[in-house]
Amino acid sequence: MFKRLQWKMVVMFVALVFITMLLAGIFMMSNIIEVYQEDFISQQEAAIEGDLIVSIRNALTSKGTNEERLAKASNSISLYAGRMGLGAQRDCYILDGNTGRVVISYSGKNTILEKTPNIISAMAGKKGQSFSFDTNYMDYAVSFSAGGEDYIFYVKDNRESVNSLVQNMMQIIIQALLISALASIFLCYFFAKTITKPITVLTEKAEDFAEGNFESRLETTSSDEIGSLMETFNYMGNVMSNAISEVAGEKHKVEVILENVNNGIIAFNTDQEIIHQNSAAKKLFGKHLKDDTKFDDFWKSLGTELSMEEFTYLNKLRPEERDIEFGKSRIKAYIIPFRIEKGKIAGIVSVFEDVTKQFNLEESRRKFVAEVSHELKTPLTTIGTYTETLLDGYLDDKEMATSLLKTVHSETDKMTALVKNLLTLSRYDAQKEEIQKELFSLDELLREVVKTFKVEAEKKGLKLIYNLTTQSPTILGDKFQIERAVKNIVSNAIKYTDTGAVKIFCGYLYNEAYVKVEDTGKGIPEKDLPHIFERFYRVDKARSREMGGTGLGLAITKEIIESHGGSVSAESEIGSFTRFTIKLPVAKEE
Ligand code: ADP
Repeated sequence: MFKRLQWKMVVMFVALVFITMLLAGIFMMSNIIEVYQEDFISQQEAAIEGDLIVSIRNALTSKGTNEERLAKASNSISLYAGRMGLGAQRDCYILDGNTGRVVISYSGKNTILEKTPNIISAMAGKKGQSFSFDTNYMDYAVSFSAGGEDYIFYVKDNRESVNSLVQNMMQIIIQALLISALASIFLCYFFAKTITKPITVLTEKAEDFAEGNFESRLETTSSDEIGSLMETFNYMGNVMSNAISEVAGEKHKVEVILENVNNGIIAFNTDQEIIHQNSAAKKLFGKHLKDDTKFDDFWKSLGTELSMEEFTYLNKLRPEERDIEFGKSRIKAYIIPFRIEKGKIAGIVSVFEDVTKQFNLEESRRKFVAEVSHELKTPLTTIGTYTETLLDGYLDDKEMATSLLKTVHSETDKMTALVKNLLTLSRYDAQKEEIQKELFSLDELLREVVKTFKVEAEKKGLKLIYNLTTQSPTILGDKFQIERAVKNIVSNAIKYTDTGAVKIFCGYLYNEAYVKVEDTGKGIPEKDLPHIFERFYRVDKARSREMGGTGLGLAITKEIIESHGGSVSAESEIGSFTRFTIKLPVAKEE
């Protein structure tokens, strides 16, 4: 397609050629007329200087009739006709100096001449040789006197020859104009194309740039300014491409970092719109955080009053911190306003750290200390009271003193058991409990446990039944620890069962050994079931204490079993049964 710039250049070029040629034509034509006129005058002057007037005067004053005199004068003119350039266009006259009437006409045409300015000037005795471009003739008039009469020597050229010359010239100029216009259109088309083509290419390249494509390269075909412009464009493309890829690399790096940090990050602009949110933030707040959530609304929904306007209006750049309770989570939020270069706030980045674990840990530590203090306080109070009673006068009463000291002893045992259990747990917490690994038969272990509790069970009138349901599974682990874990469960079963039986089953399924301890006791309420493995958790605190329980048995069992790669769970129905299941990996055969 012929582009607009190309058209403009063609039109400009053609107009330029046209105007130049037109001016040249006009200049040439005016010069031709001028030269022609100068030539006309010089011819007449030459004739006069060659004594034509003298010769005419002599002829007009010679003897003879008037006709003879006029004929002589006419002859004198004929002698100069060649030099004066007389012919069809140019005639020479002798006029009456007073009236301007034609006395002699060289061509013999007896015409009446119009009184031209030059004739009028000659009638006034001056030379008439002025010209005007407007008139279509040239004339020359000089007054002279002969025999006392005034005459005017007058030459008139009707300028037809020069007019036709001018006409011819005009035709030639117009033809030349048309030809040169056509030629210049063609020339200019190709010339303009050489200029506009690279511009078109450059435009396309610039459009590519605008679309972010800096990879395409321009082929430089010339070494002129356009060629160097193209090279500069290529260079610019390289620089931009490098800069963009550097920026893209940086951006990607930042995005990867933001995506992979555990903290939730949300950035808002000053219009309160979300401009960035990472997956951790989405995970943390879920449906609560939508793409169109506004800054103020977001914080309001978290139960914190924060307003973007406050930051922007006061240009507050100091970061702030907030502690948030979001559902079951505890979140620490850092609110960091940011600005782009120096100036006003451009937005706010909020970083959310899920501190639920730390919070819960802190909380459970607090609870733990309180529980331990409480657990120790009861026996210590008892010991304190009993020893005080003893000292207050019962030392001599042997029976009373023995009874009091028995209680003191039993309370000390309870405290010792508690402290021992606490130490065991703290070793598990610090992962310092050494596991003495050995291969042992679970069946054998359980038989020993049954033996240990047989008397105790029978004392309560309970049946203690053991059943091996498959072949005996072999376990690789700390036999002593596992025994302790199982004992805790069996002892609980006997402790919390008044009638019926305690049944122990052992076996394995695939690579998993199991020990099930089932009793027909009072059971554990459903609401307590998920908590019984927690430290110090007891369903019936008073009864547990009374029975010498520390509330740590199941917690220790859980630690032991889990440290062996197994699991422990409990099922129960109130007033019906309680079943504990221990699962342990079976030792791989060598
Ligand atoms: P404790 O020293 O009090 O027995 P444990 O950690 O061994 O502490 O057990 C935690 C709590 O679980 C007990 O206080 C008791 O309320 C409940 N419990 C454990 N085993 C049984 C069971 N077989 N039947 C009913 N309640 C049980």
